[in-house]
Amino acid sequence: MRELSAYFCPRCGHYAYFQLPKNAVCYGCRVNMRRIDMPYQRFMDMDCEERDRYISCRIIETSPSLAQRICAPDKLYDQRRLIGQLTEEYTKLETENQSLNQTVDWMHKTIWEQLRRMKELEVKVREMEQRREM
Ligand SMILES: [Zn+2]
Repeated sequence: MRELSAYFCPRCGHYAYFQLPKNAVCYGCRVNMRRIDMPYQRFMDMDCEERDRYISCRIIETSPSLAQRICAPDKLYDQRRLIGQLTEEYTKLETENQSLNQTVDWMHKTIWEQLRRMKELEVKVREMEQRREM
């Protein structure tokens, strides 16, 4: 019998044990899970917190996104730096979001202003027409 291996989902962090790699698909996310590169028994022996930490690090390592970009130069594990940079990124996104909202507000105002002017013009045109008819 083939030995079990532990696998984790790179998207949600769920982990499970499988004999065959082809069966290692996350139920929730429907993505292929990644093999945890250590003997099954050693993974089993870790407590919940250790597993969480281990899988969190693997997810960050295997993620092609922001987190890896942030961690790559410094070989990871520098959590203060990671948190600092994520916070910075978050603030940047928040500011960006704020300025987008302001733009939308501004566009709303502009549109209302334009509508108001058109109404004014309409009234003027009507007045002129009435005057011509007189
Ligand atoms: Zn998943």
